[in-house]
Amino acid sequence: MKTVVVTGATSGIGKATALDLAACRFHVIGTARTPDKAEKLTAAAAELGLTVHTVLLDVTDPRSCQDAVVEIDALTDGGPWALVNNAGIAPVGAFEDVAEADARAALEVNLLGVARMTGLVLPGMRRRREGRIVQLSSLGGLVSVPFNGWYCASKHALEALTDSLRMEIAGSGVHACLIEPGFTDTPMLSKGLADFPADSRYAHGYMAARRLIASWSPPGPETVARTVRRALLAPKPRRRYRCGPGAVPAP
Ligand code: NDP
Repeated sequence: MKTVVVTGATSGIGKATALDLAACRFHVIGTARTPDKAEKLTAAAAELGLTVHTVLLDVTDPRSCQDAVVEIDALTDGGPWALVNNAGIAPVGAFEDVAEADARAALEVNLLGVARMTGLVLPGMRRRREGRIVQLSSLGGLVSVPFNGWYCASKHALEALTDSLRMEIAGSGVHACLIEPGFTDTPMLSKGLADFPADSRYAHGYMAARRLIASWSPPGPETVARTVRRALLAPKPRRRYRCGPGAVPAP
Protein backbone atom coordinates (compact mmCIF):
# COMPACT_ATOMS: atom_id res chain seq x y z
CA MET A 1 0.00 0.00 0.00
CA LYS A 2 1.44 3.37 -1.00
CA THR A 3 1.84 5.96 1.75
CA VAL A 4 0.69 9.53 1.15
CA VAL A 5 1.37 12.31 3.66
CA VAL A 6 -1.16 15.15 3.59
CA THR A 7 -0.15 18.27 5.52
CA GLY A 8 -2.86 20.36 7.16
CA ALA A 9 -5.29 17.45 7.08
CA THR A 10 -7.52 18.76 9.87
CA SER A 11 -9.71 21.05 7.78
CA GLY A 12 -11.07 21.86 4.33
CA ILE A 13 -9.19 20.49 1.34
CA GLY A 14 -6.57 18.61 3.41
CA LYS A 15 -9.20 16.72 5.39
CA ALA A 16 -11.26 15.92 2.28
CA THR A 17 -8.08 14.73 0.53
CA ALA A 18 -6.96 12.55 3.43
CA LEU A 19 -10.39 10.86 3.59
CA ASP A 20 -10.66 10.48 -0.18
CA LEU A 21 -7.22 8.89 -0.47
CA ALA A 22 -7.86 6.59 2.48
CA ALA A 23 -11.07 5.47 0.72
CA CYS A 24 -8.90 4.75 -2.35
CA ARG A 25 -6.76 2.36 -0.31
CA PHE A 26 -3.75 4.60 0.12
CA HIS A 27 -2.02 4.49 3.50
CA VAL A 28 -2.70 8.07 4.58
CA ILE A 29 -0.77 10.02 7.19
CA GLY A 30 -2.48 13.31 7.88
CA THR A 31 -0.68 16.03 9.77
CA ALA A 32 -2.28 18.13 12.50
CA ARG A 33 -1.02 21.01 14.59
CA THR A 34 -2.54 19.81 17.87
CA PRO A 35 -3.35 16.42 19.43
CA ASP A 36 -7.07 17.25 19.72
CA LYS A 37 -7.30 18.06 16.00
CA ALA A 38 -5.37 14.86 15.22
CA GLU A 39 -7.87 12.87 17.26
CA LYS A 40 -10.81 14.49 15.48
CA LEU A 41 -9.31 13.58 12.11
CA THR A 42 -8.78 9.95 13.15
CA ALA A 43 -12.34 9.84 14.48
CA ALA A 44 -13.80 11.36 11.30
CA ALA A 45 -12.01 8.68 9.27
CA ALA A 46 -13.13 5.91 11.62
CA GLU A 47 -16.76 7.03 11.29
CA LEU A 48 -16.43 6.31 7.57
CA GLY A 49 -14.77 2.98 8.24
CA LEU A 50 -11.41 4.38 7.13
CA THR A 51 -7.96 4.61 8.70
CA VAL A 52 -5.93 7.81 8.70
CA HIS A 53 -2.77 7.89 10.78
CA THR A 54 -1.78 11.24 12.20
CA VAL A 55 1.47 13.03 12.94
CA LEU A 56 1.87 16.38 14.68
CA LEU A 57 3.38 19.08 12.48
CA ASP A 58 3.76 22.82 12.35
CA VAL A 59 5.39 23.55 9.01
CA THR A 60 6.73 26.89 10.25
CA ASP A 61 8.92 25.09 12.81
CA PRO A 62 11.97 23.34 11.30
CA ARG A 63 12.31 21.08 14.36
CA SER A 64 8.66 20.04 14.12
CA CYS A 65 9.19 19.21 10.43
CA GLN A 66 12.23 17.06 11.23
CA ASP A 67 10.45 15.25 14.06
CA ALA A 68 7.40 14.64 11.88
CA VAL A 69 9.50 13.14 9.08
CA VAL A 70 11.33 10.86 11.53
CA GLU A 71 7.93 9.67 12.76
CA ILE A 72 6.62 9.27 9.19
CA ASP A 73 9.71 7.26 8.22
CA ALA A 74 9.08 4.97 11.20
CA LEU A 75 5.44 4.48 10.17
CA THR A 76 6.43 3.63 6.61
CA ASP A 77 9.05 1.52 4.94
CA GLY A 78 11.69 4.25 4.96
CA GLY A 79 9.59 7.18 3.79
CA PRO A 80 6.36 8.15 2.07
CA TRP A 81 5.62 7.52 -1.59
CA ALA A 82 3.91 10.91 -1.88
CA LEU A 83 3.76 14.22 -0.05
CA VAL A 84 0.75 16.49 -0.53
CA ASN A 85 1.79 19.94 0.65
CA ASN A 86 -1.64 21.26 1.48
CA ALA A 87 -1.20 23.34 4.67
CA GLY A 88 -1.81 26.99 3.88
CA ILE A 89 -3.04 30.28 5.23
CA ALA A 90 -4.42 33.40 3.55
CA PRO A 91 -4.04 36.76 5.25
CA VAL A 92 -6.42 39.38 3.88
CA GLY A 93 -6.25 43.16 3.88
CA ALA A 94 -5.30 46.21 1.90
CA PHE A 95 -1.61 46.41 0.96
CA GLU A 96 -0.72 48.98 3.61
CA ASP A 97 -2.86 47.34 6.31
CA VAL A 98 -1.37 43.82 6.37
CA ALA A 99 1.01 43.53 9.33
CA GLU A 100 4.52 42.38 8.50
CA ALA A 101 4.03 39.44 10.87
CA ASP A 102 1.02 38.27 8.82
CA ALA A 103 2.96 38.66 5.58
CA ARG A 104 5.84 36.63 7.02
CA ALA A 105 3.42 33.98 8.25
CA ALA A 106 2.01 33.55 4.73
CA LEU A 107 5.49 33.04 3.31
CA GLU A 108 6.47 30.76 6.20
CA VAL A 109 3.49 28.42 5.77
CA ASN A 110 2.76 28.60 2.04
CA LEU A 111 6.32 28.69 0.75
CA LEU A 112 9.03 27.90 3.30
CA GLY A 113 6.94 25.25 5.03
CA VAL A 114 6.37 23.52 1.71
CA ALA A 115 10.08 23.77 0.90
CA ARG A 116 11.05 22.34 4.31
CA MET A 117 8.80 19.32 4.04
CA THR A 118 9.74 18.71 0.40
CA GLY A 119 13.45 18.99 1.19
CA LEU A 120 13.12 16.44 3.98
CA VAL A 121 11.31 13.73 1.99
CA LEU A 122 13.02 14.27 -1.36
CA PRO A 123 16.34 12.46 -0.63
CA GLY A 124 14.46 9.25 0.26
CA MET A 125 12.32 9.50 -2.88
CA ARG A 126 15.41 10.07 -5.01
CA ARG A 127 17.09 7.02 -3.44
CA ARG A 128 14.06 4.85 -4.10
CA ARG A 129 13.77 6.39 -7.57
CA GLU A 130 10.05 6.98 -7.12
CA GLY A 131 7.80 9.49 -5.43
CA ARG A 132 5.31 12.29 -5.86
CA ILE A 133 5.31 15.86 -4.57
CA VAL A 134 1.89 17.48 -4.92
CA GLN A 135 1.70 21.20 -4.14
CA LEU A 136 -1.58 22.89 -3.28
CA SER A 137 -1.10 26.13 -5.12
CA SER A 138 -4.10 28.22 -6.18
CA LEU A 139 -5.60 30.21 -8.99
CA GLY A 140 -3.99 32.97 -6.90
CA GLY A 141 -0.64 31.48 -7.92
CA LEU A 142 -1.41 32.40 -11.53
CA VAL A 143 -3.50 35.55 -11.24
CA SER A 144 -3.30 38.13 -8.47
CA VAL A 145 -6.41 39.54 -6.85
CA PRO A 146 -6.76 42.63 -4.64
CA PHE A 147 -6.59 42.36 -0.82
CA ASN A 148 -4.87 38.96 -0.99
CA GLY A 149 -1.46 40.21 -2.06
CA TRP A 150 0.74 38.14 0.26
CA TYR A 151 -1.29 35.01 -0.40
CA CYS A 152 -0.95 35.51 -4.17
CA ALA A 153 2.75 36.35 -3.80
CA SER A 154 3.38 33.19 -1.78
CA LYS A 155 1.52 31.01 -4.30
CA HIS A 156 3.25 32.65 -7.30
CA ALA A 157 6.56 31.86 -5.59
CA LEU A 158 5.41 28.29 -4.93
CA GLU A 159 4.64 27.90 -8.63
CA ALA A 160 8.15 29.09 -9.53
CA LEU A 161 9.83 26.93 -6.91
CA THR A 162 7.93 23.85 -8.05
CA ASP A 163 8.68 24.48 -11.73
CA SER A 164 12.39 24.62 -10.82
CA LEU A 165 12.12 21.47 -8.75
CA ARG A 166 10.38 19.62 -11.57
CA MET A 167 13.27 20.40 -13.92
CA GLU A 168 15.83 19.31 -11.30
CA ILE A 169 14.18 15.95 -10.68
CA ALA A 170 13.39 15.13 -14.30
CA GLY A 171 14.38 11.52 -14.98
CA SER A 172 14.84 10.72 -11.27
CA GLY A 173 11.57 8.80 -10.97
CA VAL A 174 10.17 11.50 -8.69
CA HIS A 175 7.43 13.78 -10.04
CA ALA A 176 6.22 17.16 -8.80
CA CYS A 177 2.96 18.79 -9.80
CA LEU A 178 0.81 21.77 -8.89
CA ILE A 179 -2.90 21.79 -8.04
CA GLU A 180 -4.47 25.18 -8.81
CA PRO A 181 -7.98 25.33 -7.37
CA GLY A 182 -10.31 28.29 -7.76
CA PHE A 183 -12.43 29.44 -4.82
CA THR A 184 -13.39 26.42 -2.73
CA ASP A 185 -15.87 26.31 0.11
CA THR A 186 -13.65 25.72 3.17
CA PRO A 187 -12.98 27.47 6.49
CA MET A 188 -10.23 29.46 4.70
CA LEU A 189 -12.84 31.09 2.49
CA SER A 190 -15.15 32.04 5.37
CA LYS A 191 -12.19 33.21 7.47
CA GLY A 192 -11.33 35.58 4.62
CA LEU A 193 -14.60 37.37 5.29
CA ALA A 194 -14.30 37.34 9.07
CA ASP A 195 -10.66 38.50 9.14
CA PHE A 196 -10.93 41.57 6.92
CA PRO A 197 -10.56 44.63 9.19
CA ALA A 198 -14.09 46.03 9.53
CA ASP A 199 -12.75 49.55 10.05
CA SER A 200 -10.70 49.46 6.82
CA ARG A 201 -11.78 52.03 4.26
CA TYR A 202 -11.83 49.18 1.76
CA ALA A 203 -14.08 46.94 3.83
CA HIS A 204 -17.27 47.74 1.95
CA GLY A 205 -15.85 46.85 -1.48
CA TYR A 206 -14.06 43.76 -0.16
CA MET A 207 -17.13 42.41 1.62
CA ALA A 208 -19.26 43.00 -1.48
CA ALA A 209 -16.78 41.06 -3.64
CA ARG A 210 -16.55 38.23 -1.12
CA ARG A 211 -20.33 37.97 -0.79
CA LEU A 212 -20.52 37.76 -4.56
CA ILE A 213 -18.06 34.86 -4.49
CA ALA A 214 -20.10 33.17 -1.75
CA SER A 215 -23.26 33.61 -3.84
CA TRP A 216 -21.63 31.60 -6.65
CA SER A 217 -21.69 28.64 -4.26
CA PRO A 218 -18.09 27.59 -4.76
CA PRO A 219 -17.57 23.83 -4.91
CA GLY A 220 -16.71 21.90 -1.79
CA PRO A 221 -13.22 20.60 -0.97
CA GLU A 222 -14.10 17.15 -2.34
CA THR A 223 -13.66 18.57 -5.87
CA VAL A 224 -10.05 19.40 -5.11
CA ALA A 225 -9.54 16.09 -3.30
CA ARG A 226 -10.60 14.25 -6.46
CA THR A 227 -8.10 16.30 -8.46
CA VAL A 228 -5.29 15.39 -6.05
CA ARG A 229 -6.30 11.75 -6.38
CA ARG A 230 -6.21 12.05 -10.19
CA ALA A 231 -2.69 13.49 -9.99
CA LEU A 232 -1.56 10.63 -7.74
CA LEU A 233 -3.15 7.90 -9.83
CA ALA A 234 -1.72 9.18 -13.14
CA PRO A 235 1.27 7.09 -14.23
CA LYS A 236 2.99 10.34 -15.10
CA PRO A 237 1.30 13.39 -13.57
CA ARG A 238 0.74 16.57 -15.54
CA ARG A 239 2.64 19.68 -14.49
CA ARG A 240 -0.48 21.40 -13.20
CA TYR A 241 -4.10 20.57 -12.53
CA ARG A 242 -6.81 23.21 -12.38
CA CYS A 243 -10.20 22.82 -10.75
CA GLY A 244 -13.13 24.87 -9.53
CA PRO A 245 -14.53 28.23 -10.65
CA GLY A 246 -12.26 30.27 -12.86
CA ALA A 247 -10.27 27.21 -13.86
CA VAL A 248 -9.00 27.18 -17.42
CA PRO A 249 -7.34 24.13 -18.93
CA ALA A 250 -3.67 23.94 -17.94
CA PRO A 251 -1.20 24.01 -20.83
P1 NDP B 1 -8.27 25.51 5.70
O1 NDP B 1 -8.04 26.78 6.45
O2 NDP B 1 -9.60 24.88 5.75
O3 NDP B 1 -7.17 24.42 6.11
C1 NDP B 1 -5.82 24.76 6.21
C2 NDP B 1 -5.05 23.63 6.85
O4 NDP B 1 -3.68 24.02 6.97
C3 NDP B 1 -5.55 23.33 8.27
O5 NDP B 1 -5.50 21.94 8.51
C4 NDP B 1 -4.53 24.05 9.13
O6 NDP B 1 -4.39 23.53 10.43
C5 NDP B 1 -3.27 23.82 8.33
N1 NDP B 1 -2.19 24.72 8.71
C6 NDP B 1 -2.23 26.07 8.80
N2 NDP B 1 -1.05 26.53 9.26
C7 NDP B 1 -0.26 25.45 9.45
C8 NDP B 1 1.06 25.26 9.92
N3 NDP B 1 1.82 26.30 10.32
N4 NDP B 1 1.56 24.01 9.99
C9 NDP B 1 0.81 22.94 9.61
N5 NDP B 1 -0.46 23.05 9.19
C10 NDP B 1 -0.99 24.28 9.11
O7 NDP B 1 -7.86 25.88 4.20
P2 NDP B 1 -8.20 25.19 2.78
O8 NDP B 1 -8.56 23.78 2.97
O9 NDP B 1 -9.10 26.09 2.05
O10 NDP B 1 -6.77 25.30 2.07
C11 NDP B 1 -5.90 24.19 1.87
C12 NDP B 1 -4.91 24.56 0.77
O11 NDP B 1 -5.64 24.82 -0.44
C13 NDP B 1 -4.11 25.83 1.07
O12 NDP B 1 -2.78 25.65 0.64
C14 NDP B 1 -4.81 26.89 0.25
O13 NDP B 1 -3.97 27.94 -0.10
C15 NDP B 1 -5.25 26.08 -0.97
N6 NDP B 1 -6.36 26.67 -1.70
C16 NDP B 1 -7.56 26.97 -1.10
C17 NDP B 1 -8.58 27.58 -1.82
C18 NDP B 1 -9.89 27.96 -1.21
O14 NDP B 1 -10.66 28.72 -1.86
N7 NDP B 1 -10.26 27.45 -0.06
C19 NDP B 1 -8.41 27.90 -3.25
C20 NDP B 1 -7.11 27.55 -3.78
C21 NDP B 1 -6.14 26.96 -3.03
P3 NDP B 1 -5.33 24.03 11.65
O15 NDP B 1 -6.62 23.24 11.50
O16 NDP B 1 -4.57 23.70 12.87
O17 NDP B 1 -5.53 25.52 11.47
